[in-house]
Amino acid sequence: MHIPISCEFFPPKSDEGAAKLRGVHNRLAEALKPEYFSVTYGAGGSTQERSFATVREIQMESSVPAAPHLSCVGSTRAGIADILDQYRALDIHRIIALRGDLPSGMRDPGDFRYANELVAFIREHAGDWFHIEVAAYPEFHPQAASATADLEHLKRKVDAGANGAITQYFYSIEAYSRFVDDCERLHIDIPIVPGLMPITNYTQLARFSDACGADLPRWLRKRLEAFGDDLGSLRAFGHDVVVELTADLVSAGTPGLHFYTMNQADSVIALCRDSGVLPTNHTG
Ligand code: FAD
Repeated sequence: MHIPISCEFFPPKSDEGAAKLRGVHNRLAEALKPEYFSVTYGAGGSTQERSFATVREIQMESSVPAAPHLSCVGSTRAGIADILDQYRALDIHRIIALRGDLPSGMRDPGDFRYANELVAFIREHAGDWFHIEVAAYPEFHPQAASATADLEHLKRKVDAGANGAITQYFYSIEAYSRFVDDCERLHIDIPIVPGLMPITNYTQLARFSDACGADLPRWLRKRLEAFGDDLGSLRAFGHDVVVELTADLVSAGTPGLHFYTMNQADSVIALCRDSGVLPTNHTG
């Protein structure tokens, strides 16, 4: 059984972080042989340069191809065209196309309002050069007018030329399965790859979940809260929760697994090993 795996990184802020990330992606490349490494991208400013530098390094130095995230809010068509040309020159063939969120204080939305417009522009500018992934939300995007509207907007991204979707993380397999069924009903016929977030730090996870609209089920929140400062027990419990989720997704025939690594290798390798995605004698 081969399940395509992808791993997501954020661009490190310092030389020390960059050196650490190099070690992390080398270990993940060896242990998981992922299909690609993706690198997040923020709207505006220096994060974009750091994203580009991280993408270039992975593409040039790693055995695993890089897949840059590209958010369009606050950008011009000319600016996006320039970035696409730079990625083409690096022989990059996959992009995660997003709307993104305007940083507070930035008001000009630029030339794009929604991710479907970015997908259409990538196709217009670069034809079929790029395999385009888009974001999907099994528990629905926080700004969506309704669940139905959110699904229709996902369909617009597919109609504009997206090849696949990666989901926001979730801890309820029922939410994901229902979402995939709804997509099938709407003839959204692209792979919907689940995004998986390891549980290693409750405060950070609760903050992220509140910001992005991913649901931390009440039972999980309560159990994680109860560990207090006992990080070792929290991590052991969190590991078991995500192993079970991963194994259930694999049994259900998932088209792939996308890991939000938080620039850490150990938790992701252990999850893959213990959920049966890697051979059990793997020592990585
Ligand atoms: P869209 O698909 O444009 O949807 C945004 C909202 O608008 C939704 O509520 C949708 O229902 C609604 N909508 C869409 N089209 C229309 C329309 N025509 N009319 C009215 N409403 C509409 N953010 C970053 O900044 N950088 C990253 O690198 C990044 N990586 C991500 C990776 C993944 C896998 C995921 C799931 C998210 C990522 N995000 C990233 C977060 C993402 O940018 C935010 O969730 C953002 O708020 C929405 O982006 P989108 O591409 O889903 O937007």
